[in-house]
Amino acid sequence: MDFDDTPAERAFRTEVQAWLDQHVEPRYRTGAASIGIANVDNDSYGAECRAWQRRLFDGGWAGLTWSTDHGGRGAGIMEQLIFSQEQARFSVPVGLFLVAVNMVGPTLIVHGTEDQRKEHLRPILRGDEVWCQLFSEPNAGSDLTSLQTRAVRDGDVYVVNGQKVWTSYAQHAEWAILLARTGHPESGRLGITYLLCDMSMPGIEVRPLRQITGTAHFNEVFLTDVRIPVTDVVGEVDGGWTVARTTLGSERAMIGGLVNTLAIFDDLVALARQRVSNADPVVRQDLTRVFTNARLLEFLGYRLQTSLSQGRMPGPEASVLKMMLSLQLQLIGSLGVRLEGASGALWSEFDGDHAVWQHRLCDQFAVRLGGGPDEVQRNIVAERVLGLPREPASS
Ligand SMILES: Cc1cc2nc3c(=O)[nH]c(=O)nc-3n(C[C@H](O)[C@H](O)[C@H](O)COP(=O)(O)OP(=O)(O)OC[C@H]3O[C@@H](n4cnc5c(N)ncnc54)[C@H](O)[C@@H]3O)c2cc1C
Repeated sequence: MDFDDTPAERAFRTEVQAWLDQHVEPRYRTGAASIGIANVDNDSYGAECRAWQRRLFDGGWAGLTWSTDHGGRGAGIMEQLIFSQEQARFSVPVGLFLVAVNMVGPTLIVHGTEDQRKEHLRPILRGDEVWCQLFSEPNAGSDLTSLQTRAVRDGDVYVVNGQKVWTSYAQHAEWAILLARTGHPESGRLGITYLLCDMSMPGIEVRPLRQITGTAHFNEVFLTDVRIPVTDVVGEVDGGWTVARTTLGSERAMIGGLVNTLAIFDDLVALARQRVSNADPVVRQDLTRVFTNARLLEFLGYRLQTSLSQGRMPGPEASVLKMMLSLQLQLIGSLGVRLEGASGALWSEFDGDHAVWQHRLCDQFAVRLGGGPDEVQRNIVAERVLGLPREPASS
């Protein structure tokens, strides 16, 4: 694989850099893009995310690979990759649109009806629709096919009852993708339907859950007699698992590519220079590991993008990428706090760097679990890459 830009790609990169340099506000120019540090549960963060998405849309940078009919640019995967790389140099607020742009859009493009695409794709890109993902339940996380939320047909609607949990950004969302059981209780993956759910409908209650980092990134969502039109079914009734696999593959790829850890490496080096002797061999060794991992993540990202550019959905390579990012964030968080020495134990917005390393240390658990825990990714790699025997299926 050739890692250098072609002349056309170089020209595109220059154009992107010029646009970002002109449009990224000074407050987003500090440090690398990072998840977990933003206070996602306040209204100003919501407004900032919507404003940034709208700015991307107006500038012609939203949905680079989506067709122009849907408000995108009709560009190739390399342009998308270049744009993401350049945008990751800044801490622009993208959080609230991660689900909509990276998971809902790609799923509707593959499985949605023309009406569903018309109704949602352009509003997503314009920053008008925040989406959340109503998949996980108290008793269905890794083993998602055992979900119990029920959808029963009543004329032109499905009546939905159940409880979801860990729903990121539900407190901000206008719409949700929802998995519900339409088959009999033991029907496993063969009795699940994928629905689009308007979050303003009666019967939906959102309760934020506060995390160790102090923010409420995710929520519990209770659904009581929620009436969803049959036109909001995506794919086949009882065939929602096929649709969900597209969403879940996109989620892993998205999470794996979320953080530019090379930029965080630079911050770690600066911290090390400030706090410890250059000659400390253990610190030097850990910094080398962070750098090596960051480069590996970069190359794994290229591999994933290559398969996407060849029209293949993210497969086990997305699991490898996500696992690698988990390991990397674990290392970064613990090294950062260790380098701070005694002040690493402080947790206050008034300490010099706003507890960035403490946040990173605590927030790495989110990446290790969200989108499926490390152990489940290892199972996927064991079965689909190494050819080891399959885990016994629950259904
Ligand atoms: C930050 C964050 C955001 C999230 N956002 C959303 C969202 O927006 N929407 C949504 O629907 N869900 C969301 N989730 C939920 C996420 O998808 C689940 O946490 C994940 O699927 C794991 O499910 P669980 O938490 O029920 O853990 P469980 O499935 O109960 O697993 C707990 C532990 O058991 C072990 N384990 C489980 N199964 C296996 C196995 N087969 N082999 C080996 N070990 C196993 C692992 O150690 C695992 O960590 C989010 C989670 C996090 C952390």
